[in-house]
Order: sequence, then structure tokens, then C-alpha cells
Amino acid sequence: MGQANSGGHPSAGCETFDWDVARRMLAGLPGGGLNIAHEAADRHVADGNGHRPALLCLGRRYERRQLSYLDLADGSGRVAAFLQRLGLNKGDVVAVLLDRSAEFFLAALGTWKAGGVFCPLFSAFGPGPLKSRLELARARVLITSSGLYQRKVAAIRAALPELTHVVTVAESGESPSGCLDFAALMAAQTPQPAIATAESDPALLHFTSGTAGTPKGAIHSHRCVLSLLVSARQVFDLTADDVYWCTADPGWVTGSAYGIIAPLVNGCLSVVDEAEFDTRRWYGILKDEKVTVWYTTPTNIRLMMRFGAALARSYRQNSLRVAASVGEPLNREAVAWGEKALGVPFLDTWWQTETGAIAIANRAGCTHPGSMGKPLPGIETALITFEHGRLSVAEQPEAIGELALKANLPSLFLGYLGDPARTEASFADGWYLTGDQVRRDAAGCIWFVGRSDDMIKSAAHTIGPFEVECALMNHPAVAETGVVGKPDLLLREVPVAFVSVNPGFEAGESLRLELLSFARQELGSALAPREILFVESLPKTNTGKIMRRVLKAKASSEPDEDDPIGTALCPGRFDDE
Ligand code: ATP
Ligand code: MG
Repeated sequence: MGQANSGGHPSAGCETFDWDVARRMLAGLPGGGLNIAHEAADRHVADGNGHRPALLCLGRRYERRQLSYLDLADGSGRVAAFLQRLGLNKGDVVAVLLDRSAEFFLAALGTWKAGGVFCPLFSAFGPGPLKSRLELARARVLITSSGLYQRKVAAIRAALPELTHVVTVAESGESPSGCLDFAALMAAQTPQPAIATAESDPALLHFTSGTAGTPKGAIHSHRCVLSLLVSARQVFDLTADDVYWCTADPGWVTGSAYGIIAPLVNGCLSVVDEAEFDTRRWYGILKDEKVTVWYTTPTNIRLMMRFGAALARSYRQNSLRVAASVGEPLNREAVAWGEKALGVPFLDTWWQTETGAIAIANRAGCTHPGSMGKPLPGIETALITFEHGRLSVAEQPEAIGELALKANLPSLFLGYLGDPARTEASFADGWYLTGDQVRRDAAGCIWFVGRSDDMIKSAAHTIGPFEVECALMNHPAVAETGVVGKPDLLLREVPVAFVSVNPGFEAGESLRLELLSFARQELGSALAPREILFVESLPKTNTGKIMRRVLKAKASSEPDEDDPIGTALCPGRFDDE
């Protein structure tokens, strides 16, 4: 199979990396300008690779549907044509509320071809969070499924006057009243190529995960395609010959950045599993589809670890060469577990909605378990501290500070929707301030300490929750843990740990004492948690991240007499509003 992209490998190292050279790997629009959909689909067709498989969609009952790059170019051209017929103007927002499916890809690519701004939404959202996001986004068109429309949108439709059209993918029978049918619209169009878009034109609107508070709408331009093309090669060594699987929810930034754009611009085949997480199913897919590159999250890894390495090994195949993780800290044990169970260590990668693409990562052959790795070539980072309101860049080894990225990163967001003050507050002296506290060791590896908002200030110590969580995770009874600061009259705050236990262990007084003493031995008395609170599961965002702010509120409140250890705390996932 030929390479779908031309151009040299850009990951040779900082010294030789040049964004202008990397830019030559992009095709660009035939008449000038840049469009993500053209890079992701039509350029492959133009390069003679239209016949190559782009998507393998697996239905819940393993029904298989394969789409080639030509299918994607054709289908997205039809979506673009119908969006234009519906009156979509350049820069208008198309919201997409779909589960993982081929239509999700076609809707995204079609939106970009029509010059629109693609805004994915979580299908787990209820009507309230959907309404507020559709309003804030001022979405003109919504593409969803008939079932999701009836369950979640029909009741709020009348309150969304700017939403002029709803297009539904039929699940059965006719489209709901007031909606247009996706397949019928596509069939009635002639595919059109991407309209002329500039690299700085807005293309994506993502709402952040809402881990630390109300989600923010981050806008990105077509330019982010460059960082996504490059970072996937740098971290995954992704080539057109790979079978790639990104398990991210389509509503999350990872779902569009590394679910849609990165694999397609690199010309490889993506597995798209329509079902939810299931350990055996996932191992089966890795094996049967001969996945070579796998991108998943710490939550999923922890879930798999609960079932033990032997089960994973019973499905093991030799195709998998890269397994990577994103979204939350990944402890050393989880990295090593990957090696033991799957034959490859999990590579931790760091980025955030605002950065638009991976900025820091462990890479094959260069892993530093427990750390987030090193900044990718072409990305300048700094550790920033503020003293008396003045910014200073910490240079010394083992420095701790707020992670900052040079604001010239191609994939960096254009700003927060409708919040210029917040956008401005995120930048200082040419740096983008990430809000994450990190440590940089002498070798240049970056270690996650905690979100600035989550740092625990206890007497003279500033405690990063991740260090305490890592220590507790070393105990075999601990399946998951979230550490937060609890107000304390004497010490300001003390660390307390919410813990869910592994099968075979009993969450009771004896384990509580054992964990307290275990943590004290590992961490010393200043850092060790003062309390252990057992929970069945930890509260998570829709992206599966532990919501420490919910834990913090719980830790700060009086104990519930009916539920002294707080086991009723966490019914599962929280809608973040
Ligand atoms: P919000 O900004 O609404 O609170 P969020 O920050 O969780 O939500 P995302 O943009 O999805 O929304 O997540 C980015 C954040 O996730 C990072 O700033 C960091 O705190 C955390 N994160 C991502 N990857 C890693 C990683 N590899 N290690 C540690 N933390 C990570
Ligand atoms: Mg954030």
C-alpha cells in the first residue's frame, strides 16, 4: 500500500523541526487555502488512494460497514451540498449529536466542506446541558439521530429559535416531525468539493470537559489539522498502513481531533466501535481487527486492570505496537500493566481542549512511566510562576510551576466563545497558560502535579493530588482514588482520599486503617491523607474524568448520618450542570 501523504517524517527532534517544512505535508485547497475535510478525504482521492479503507464501523452486534476514502469524499460532499441548500453560511455552527458511527464522520467532514463550524455534543447529555450549549453556540443546524432527537431535543426545540434545521439519521421508520432525513438529503445532492476556507477560519467548537467548573466553548481553526497530522506521526508513528482505534466519545475533543482528523489526514484505517466499553469486546476487537495503534483513556485502562492481565493476555496478538492514553494522569503501574497484559506500555500523552492537539507525550522507545513525557518537537513549553503578580519562567531542574505553551502553536484555540475576558486571562507574555501545575525533571520530562484549582494547601506544603493518588494506587485494594483538600482550622486544608476498592477487598474499618498507614509509610505524614472515604465509584465527567470539585464539596460537608462513609456519593456519571 502506498503512503497517502508525501513529505518527510517530522519527528526527528527539536533542532531539526520546522513548522514551515511540516506545512508542506499538507495538500492545501487546489485554489489556495486550507480545509480539514479536503486534507482528510479528497486529497487521498486526488493522490490515487480513494480505494483504500478509511473506516471500519462495527455495530453493536458486530455488523460491519466499511467506507473507503472515496466514500468519505463523496458522502461528505453530499452533506456539504445539503447544508448549503439549507442556507448554511461560512462560519455558521453545525451541532452534531450522534453516537460513534459513519454518519458522525460524514457530518463533520461535510460541515468543514461547507465552511461551517463543527460542534460535537455528548449523546449522554440531557435536554438541559444540550439546550445551554446549543444556545451558546447559536447553532443553525443540528444533525442527530431520530431516537436522540425524540428523547432529548424535541422538548427543547421551541426554545431554540436560532436552530433553523434539524437533520436526523433514521433509526427506524420516518424522520420525526419537523426534521429532515439525513439519507434522503444526501441522496438528492451532487457531491461538492470544499468551499474556499482560509487556515484561520473557525472550524471547530468544543466544549471543555467541565472537570473544574462550567464547560467553556473553545474555538479552533482549520489550521489545527497541521498539528494533528504531525503529532499523530510523532507520538504514534502513524502511517497509512496502520489500523487505528480511538475509543474516545464523539462528543469529546479527542473524538474529533484523534477520532476523525488525525487518522484520516494520515490516510490509515480507523476502527469505529458503536458499542460502549466492555472488556472482552474490546480485547476481541484489538485481536480480530489486528489493531496496530490504540488511543484510550486512564478510566478504561483502570477498568481493564480490574479484570486482570491474564484475561488480556488470552486475547493477545502481535499487531499492537502503540497503546496510548489521554485525559487524566496515568500512574506508573498502569503503564507497566500495558506491557504485561498487552505487550506494549501505555504511552501517556498530555493535551487539553484549548491546545487542540497533543503537546507532551511519551513516545515509543522513549517512555518515562508516571510522567507525561516530553514536549513534542516544535512545541515550546515553560513552567511559569507568578510572584507579586509578575510572571517568571522557572529554569531549574525539579521546578514546579504552571505549564505554559508558546502561543504560536498551530492548533492553539482562537478563544473561548463569548468570553473574551477569560480568553485574555489565559495568555501572558506570549504564553498560553494551561492551568495545570507540573514538575520538570532534570531529563526534561514533565510530571503532572495537579490542576491549579485542585492543589491542596496544607500548612507550609502545597500538595498535588496526583502524587497522593499514585501512592494509594500502589495498594492492591485500591481500584480508583480521588484526593482533595478538606478545610482544616489549623492547617488550612488536609488531604482526604475517596477510594473505590478492587473486587475481593472489603471496604471497612480494617482496610481504612491499613490504607492510612500504607499512605503514611509511602508519603510521610505531611502528604498522607488524613481520611479515607470509601465509595462505590467516583463521580466522573462524560469524558470519564474524576470530578474532584464534587469530592471536595462532599469532603467539606458534614458527614451524612445514614451514609457515614459516603458510599452513596457516586451514582456514576454526572451531567456537568
Ligand atoms: P474544564 O476545563 O472544563 O475543567 P477539562 O480541563 O477536564 O475540563 P479537557 O480539555 O478535556 O477538559 O481536559 C484537559 C485537562 O485534562 C488538562 O488540562 C489536564 O488537567 C487533564 N489531562 C489531560 N491529559 C492528561 C495527562 N496525560 N495527565 C494528566 N492530566 C491530563
Ligand atoms: Mg480545562
